[in-house]
Amino acid sequence: MIVANQIDKFYPNGCHALKTVSATIQRGEVVVVIGPSGSGKSTFLRTLNQLETISSGSITVDGTDMYAKGTDINKLREEVGMVFQSFNLFPHMSVLENVMLAPLKVSKRNKREVEEHAKALLYKVGLESRMNNYPSQLSGGQMQRVAIARALAMKPNIMLFDEPTSALDPEMVGEVLDVMKSLAKDGMTMVVVTHEMGFAKEVADRVLFMEDGELLVEDTPADFFERPSHPRLSKFLSQVL
Ligand code: ATP
Ligand code: MG
Repeated sequence: MIVANQIDKFYPNGCHALKTVSATIQRGEVVVVIGPSGSGKSTFLRTLNQLETISSGSITVDGTDMYAKGTDINKLREEVGMVFQSFNLFPHMSVLENVMLAPLKVSKRNKREVEEHAKALLYKVGLESRMNNYPSQLSGGQMQRVAIARALAMKPNIMLFDEPTSALDPEMVGEVLDVMKSLAKDGMTMVVVTHEMGFAKEVADRVLFMEDGELLVEDTPADFFERPSHPRLSKFLSQVL
């Protein structure tokens, strides 16, 4: 469980990207974050694994204060997997090698076990037949599925997705969302920034709406979309739906 308590984020240039944001993500929950460009969605997500530091407030992961002295931030990061809009696979490594790299480097698991796990993950994302290919031989949707398998290879408790389908051709969006849906079904805790409203409606337990650094609405998908509780959300939905 992640608890963000009244977090503020100022970038060095003075930009106030998060304004007293509080949110709780329960174990097994799928939380979707939507909002206009520049509203702080990525910043919020990135504070959850300390890719960005916060200026004030606190974030605890399973009871451990991320910013407390003595907290092993590398260990916390291992528990939080992240998937970005761009896949950032290593071009000179095969699909299988990309998935095996981090666990071989960071964890103490032996190569055989890591390889078995990586193959099982590639099977799960539907790419077991591609494991010896190089990223340049894959489509965007396939590369993003490799990126998901790569994040899962660290056996995270929580997965963060920052617009994972935004860089994809439309016909490839579905295959990536399907993998995410199956992860959700397996009970993975997920925080997903996306413009895919269908995914939010179908898969999210809760949907958050951010605007101008503030978390304005937090609701079940049914209420969020059918009975928006904030005029800014109504306006946003009328523009995107
Ligand atoms: P988008 O939908 O375009 O991805 P977002 O909701 O993810 O937008 P953020 O990227 O979190 O928004 O940005 C929130 C605010 O912080 C914006 O005003 C942005 O300009 C600013 N910002 C983001 N990154 C930095 C940075 N590294 N330095 C300074 N300001 C930044
Ligand atoms: Mg963003």
